[in-house]
Amino acid sequence: MTAAYDTDNIFAKILRGEIPSHRVYEDDAVVAFMDVMPQGPGHTLVVPKAPSRNLLDANPSTFGPLFTVVQKVALAVKKALNADGVTVLQFNEPASGQTVYHLHVHVIPRFDGIPLKPHTGAMEKPEVLTENAGKIRAALGS
Ligand code: 5GP
Repeated sequence: MTAAYDTDNIFAKILRGEIPSHRVYEDDAVVAFMDVMPQGPGHTLVVPKAPSRNLLDANPSTFGPLFTVVQKVALAVKKALNADGVTVLQFNEPASGQTVYHLHVHVIPRFDGIPLKPHTGAMEKPEVLTENAGKIRAALGS
């Protein structure tokens, strides 16, 4: 049986503003912020405010607003980082590689010939996250 949603997971704390994040986008239903261990420059996480562990227990009404923002952010990171493409990833339960148990979608700018860095590899410098967040916010027009 799948575990219950934990209201103290790290993204729930970020959504409540209890711990800081480099936010690039927010609306009534969705928040986007920089991944602190990016798999490439500009790696952004798109997170619905509605609580669910992952895609498997989410209310289907979550997906429309969530993927509308995934597309907005994908276009913005491509423009902001001058990327050649964008990888969108989403993990469900430990066997898949999920490490934070609040539904989220990874949006990662990609560059021809450059592989992704490891998932949850190294922490990025805060000043790099701040700089990339600024570029993405500008591309989003926010
Ligand atoms: P998952 O493995 O659950 O698909 O992805 C969780 C992601 O959250 C990872 O890519 C990891 O680098 C990122 N992450 C973990 N802790 C934090 C944090 O405190 N703040 C932010 N912004 N990202 C985090």
